[in-house]
Amino acid sequence: MTAGKNGMKHKYLGNGRYNTYKHAVFQLSILCFLFFVLISVCSANEVAEFDQVNTPQGAVILIVDGLSSCYIYPEYTPYAIDGSVLDKAEPEQILQIFDQSCRVLDITAPQTFTEGGHSVLATGYSKADGELVASSGTTVYDVAHDNGYLTFAIMEKGDSSGMRSKQNVIVHDAENSITEPEMIIETNMLSGDGKSISLEIADLMQENSIELQDQLDQYPDGSQEKYDAYDIWAIDTAIELMDHMEREYPEQHYILTINVGAVDCAGHYKKNSGYIATIKGIDNATMDLYETCIENDMAFIFTGDHGMSFATADSRGGHQADKYSIMTESQKVPLVIAAKDVNTGTIEGQFGQEDIAPTILEVLNLPGKLRAADGTAIPVKDYVSLKVQVPGEGQLTLIQNEDIIFESKINDAISFVGLEPDMDYKLKYNPISDAEKDIEKVINIGSSTIIELVTSSNQSTSDKSYHNPRYIIGGTLIVCVNLAGLALIRKVLKE
Ligand SMILES: [Zn+2]
Repeated sequence: MTAGKNGMKHKYLGNGRYNTYKHAVFQLSILCFLFFVLISVCSANEVAEFDQVNTPQGAVILIVDGLSSCYIYPEYTPYAIDGSVLDKAEPEQILQIFDQSCRVLDITAPQTFTEGGHSVLATGYSKADGELVASSGTTVYDVAHDNGYLTFAIMEKGDSSGMRSKQNVIVHDAENSITEPEMIIETNMLSGDGKSISLEIADLMQENSIELQDQLDQYPDGSQEKYDAYDIWAIDTAIELMDHMEREYPEQHYILTINVGAVDCAGHYKKNSGYIATIKGIDNATMDLYETCIENDMAFIFTGDHGMSFATADSRGGHQADKYSIMTESQKVPLVIAAKDVNTGTIEGQFGQEDIAPTILEVLNLPGKLRAADGTAIPVKDYVSLKVQVPGEGQLTLIQNEDIIFESKINDAISFVGLEPDMDYKLKYNPISDAEKDIEKVINIGSSTIIELVTSSNQSTSDKSYHNPRYIIGGTLIVCVNLAGLALIRKVLKE
């Protein structure tokens, strides 16, 4: 990484990118414009981006309900409880996606049932339940909202009330039925610009929901085609939603969560062979989704809530009852991630499903806190982020290897994105007010971290006050004014 040598302090980027000091007046007008935009969205975070950073526009999380990696990862062989070897799916397109992505080999789900799995995925906490998902500040969706994201979901299962409450718009199957689904659209937290976007997405979901029953009615009950159509509907709706967002709101960040339900149903009702056939049934649609993610600069995340086990190849499957839940086939879920800055290849070593939520934040360069998480981010990228919260206005300096890589006045908080991991960094904070003392701190950042600098006179700084939009706007205004002033001074000096 060369950011330090390049003199980061000359490349401080506010919420826009100001790599040169030319055209100061033009920049000032841009800053004023940005300020008004920021007031309207109330979600600003100061960001200092180092070179080479490509933050995705958002993330698409495809959860295949009941999909165990044992049946699709080339390295694994699935076994029945009686010890016999089971059939594996070899989904051609999905295997191709594996080759172009970061694939984590060994992920264990701590709770092998739907609500547990989804709760762990959302919160990064291994013992999470729907209630924890519902409480504030616990999920990737909360952190995303704090950073100006919208959240959408298409869920055929895993639609606990907690999960639903964290989505701006969700369409979910209240019946969990492949034969007669009852698709319900729910909206939450509608405000500002997000409101009209969310209502458009709700309309799109409504239109697609009306078509679903007709699509299913073409096929006999219990047929493979009907199972496949149910899953493909969810993925196709997701692609339509992404197309709409790309066309109408290309700047809007969002997380889209999809949970397809038929693979799990097939495991329960259609034996090993039907389970495998239903995995193959989403092969082409998954590739379409993946390609849309790449085209639209969205991170693609592919995983499962829990796996599936069979007593014999000819018996129905299960995952929650004791005899099933102890099986590797019930516990191992896939994790495949594709995004510009995410490395391609296979990651070995043992990880838990609780590591997925922190990893998603890492992929999105969102250095936020998951309130209850016991998981840690899997190293899928070559850089990490650091968010520093300061007790009040002051000069903040970041030093790497004796080099000052950042120096500026900060009022409230700043995120550094694109730092080299496993390095010692020195933070220096010199407050404007005499009442507070200088702080120096050396930190080693293994994965993205939040540091709260607290002085003796200011022990009560809480996360809550930081999230108050007025603080964010105030901080943003001060930084904008400082930036504009610097730019003007620089221009005057040049002339
Ligand atoms: Zn499930």
